[in-house]
Amino acid sequence: MIIGIDLGTTNSLACVYKDGKAELIPNGFGSYLTPSVVSFEDNGAVVVGAIAKERLVTNPTDTAAAFKRFMGSPKMFCLAGKEFTPQELSAFVLRQLKQDAEKYLGEDVTEAVISVPAYFNNNQRAATLEAGKIAGIYVERLVNEPSAAALATSMLSEEDEQVYLVFDFGGGTLDVSVVDYFNNVIEIVAVSGDNHLGGNDFDKSIATYFCTRHNIDINSLSPQKQATLIRLAERAKKELTEKENVLLHMEIAGEDKAIVLNNEVLITCCSTLFDRIETVVKHALRDSGYHAIDIDEIILAGGSSKMPIVSYFLHNLLGKEPVMIGSPDEVIAQGAGIYAGIKARNEEIRDMLLTDICPFTLGVGTHNPSNNGHFNMSPIIERNSVLPISKTRTYTNVHNMQKKVKFNIYQGEAFDCADNLCLGSIIIDIAPMMANEAVVNVTFAYDINGILVVDVEDGFSTNKKQAIFKSEGMNLSQKEIAQKIELLKQYKSDFSGDERDKLLLAQAERLYQELTGINRVRIAKAMEDYEYVISVNDKHAKHILRQQITAMLDRFEEFFDVE
Ligand code: ADP
Ligand code: MG
Repeated sequence: MIIGIDLGTTNSLACVYKDGKAELIPNGFGSYLTPSVVSFEDNGAVVVGAIAKERLVTNPTDTAAAFKRFMGSPKMFCLAGKEFTPQELSAFVLRQLKQDAEKYLGEDVTEAVISVPAYFNNNQRAATLEAGKIAGIYVERLVNEPSAAALATSMLSEEDEQVYLVFDFGGGTLDVSVVDYFNNVIEIVAVSGDNHLGGNDFDKSIATYFCTRHNIDINSLSPQKQATLIRLAERAKKELTEKENVLLHMEIAGEDKAIVLNNEVLITCCSTLFDRIETVVKHALRDSGYHAIDIDEIILAGGSSKMPIVSYFLHNLLGKEPVMIGSPDEVIAQGAGIYAGIKARNEEIRDMLLTDICPFTLGVGTHNPSNNGHFNMSPIIERNSVLPISKTRTYTNVHNMQKKVKFNIYQGEAFDCADNLCLGSIIIDIAPMMANEAVVNVTFAYDINGILVVDVEDGFSTNKKQAIFKSEGMNLSQKEIAQKIELLKQYKSDFSGDERDKLLLAQAERLYQELTGINRVRIAKAMEDYEYVISVNDKHAKHILRQQITAMLDRFEEFFDVE
């Protein structure tokens, strides 16, 4: 069985193509969104999702979130005394989605199409493939998130010729792309993005604004107070989807502090974020060669696109009202699910052809005499080229009678190669010539799976060399992957008992830590009672008690801005 997976920075979703349509897969709590959070318990078990998210506050040193931001980087996460790579943590999330999907579908899930931000470079893509491998899932293909959103949208639309602008604004990343849709062919013509701009930044800006208004240095608050404030800021931000004014209220140093939040306040305290959004949108439009007036539809994707202020801002910027097709935070998973259906050659899906583009420039470093020791980027495949693509450029020798030429292969947009990602190098023997007389052809072929084949040929000696730069599996050998799979197995995620019990207790524990006084006592009592009914396995009493405690905890969640 193959499924589509939106492996998000903040939330992940799974989707299956069934009975002629994409169907989102609920997790154990009946929710489509599984927070991309991983937490280790004292007994060596691992929890993923909503429970782990509660533990971000109560057990921060055992819990990790937003690790997608570090995919493909050497960053390690130290959790519960052990080191984990971002791809290992992602593997825990993938495994959880796989298990939930298997439970829901009653079938083994062995393959997946996983979506990644269009702006992900080779290392980041390779890390995602590695995460799949460690989780025991064969990754059939990585699909760019905006391609997935466009695919899902085009399936619902009657039009057979459209220019879309996909605005995907999640918790940690912004991707904007311009997509052509013509007679069932989807072609991404430009992508632009910011890997460090998302809903989290709004939460932080709101929290900072709260502190500034009350003359508090946010860094003087304890990490736990900061986490609480940011969580409250996020909640207030989400409430603004429905309300015009929201009170953000928190007790700091024994004093009640509050601010009123509305869209005007948001646009002021987050103005630099809006500037950055504008830059990304304009960049994508400029690269696409289209003007704002050519865009037929603005597709909103990602949870942060639910903010009315974001729609309003885009409307102003592009002179057109964005459309919302279903819930923006689900559209990418829908697309990944449809894609999985295409991959499984599902008959019902009409022939849909997706072309992909290379989101970054690939080239070689060339000698620059005035730039000592530095190389200049000489692009061979420009970003936004439609894949697969093959391009050749000719280079020459710098020194008289030079016997070898070494080409360093780079990926990135900077002129100075030092600022780009070096993928490796290739050396070729050439016929000795006077400077500038050699003719060396370099051909780059790049395909949809992120495999770069580099051919170099000396025009005079006809010496040839080829090198393949695969993103798959990156630096890990089969043996290392096998070891990692074993390692992952040691962390059981199955536990006896009800997941809902665990979530309720985790939420109670978090509120216990966040609140004080009599409220704490009430929560402690509730936890004790609940643990008791679990221990004596009284299902009926547990059911009633769960409803009561849930209602009480919900009131406490409100407490922050009501009392
Ligand atoms: P990612 O792609 O990063 O996993 P999502 O698409 O799930 O993220 O979006 C998560 C972000 O969306 C979070 O920052 C969250 O605060 C924000 N978000 C979710 N719902 C709303 C809402 N109703 N209003 C404003 N922001 C929202
Ligand atoms: Mg997303």
